[in-house]
Amino acid sequence: MIEIRRYESKVLSSNMYVVVEGDRAIVIDPSDDVGPAEGLHVECILLTHEHYDHISGVNLWKEETTAPVVCSSACAASIRDPKKNLARYFSVFCELQTWVKADTIPEYDPGYCCEADETFTDRKEFGWLGHRWLLFELPGHSPGSIGILLDETALFSGDSLIKDCKTNFGAPGGSRKQWETTSVPRLKNLSKDIRVYPGHFGDFIYETNELLY
Ligand SMILES: [Zn+2]
Repeated sequence: MIEIRRYESKVLSSNMYVVVEGDRAIVIDPSDDVGPAEGLHVECILLTHEHYDHISGVNLWKEETTAPVVCSSACAASIRDPKKNLARYFSVFCELQTWVKADTIPEYDPGYCCEADETFTDRKEFGWLGHRWLLFELPGHSPGSIGILLDETALFSGDSLIKDCKTNFGAPGGSRKQWETTSVPRLKNLSKDIRVYPGHFGDFIYETNELLY
């Protein structure tokens, strides 16, 4: 029986997810303030997008688990560069996030960068212990953003869909046009009762009429 565990990071309250089946796991958006799950064999690390608050634990988790990091090619190009993954501008970035108070900005490394092991463009599918994973590009919030669909019932949406929040296009490379032309049609093809696990805050049931942007 699959289990989805959510861990909220101190870094901008971003969500890390650990998807567990038996003693095996897939990690999504690892944080550096959440330690590797004891007793679990982590087989793969997936990234929803390139922003620092979603990749801060990649190096730590790679070292501890040796699991390959998988993301879109655009995401892979950005996580190597502290300017493109926003680590360099993290304090300014925090101020733009309305839910973070200035005095709660955590310590961070402005030169932080990391590397992907496997990349894809457009989409990538794979099977895992009887489950189906589909990774598909969802540009708009950032060039490297993807949706991660598990068994057509759960969608890990990164910052592309957050409950009751408009999709934010304000970071470098953000594009409302790409969102409208590429990503919205892809999301509208999904079934309406999918449960969305976003990059911040709690999960919710997706309905096409909830697309806010
Ligand atoms: Zn983001």
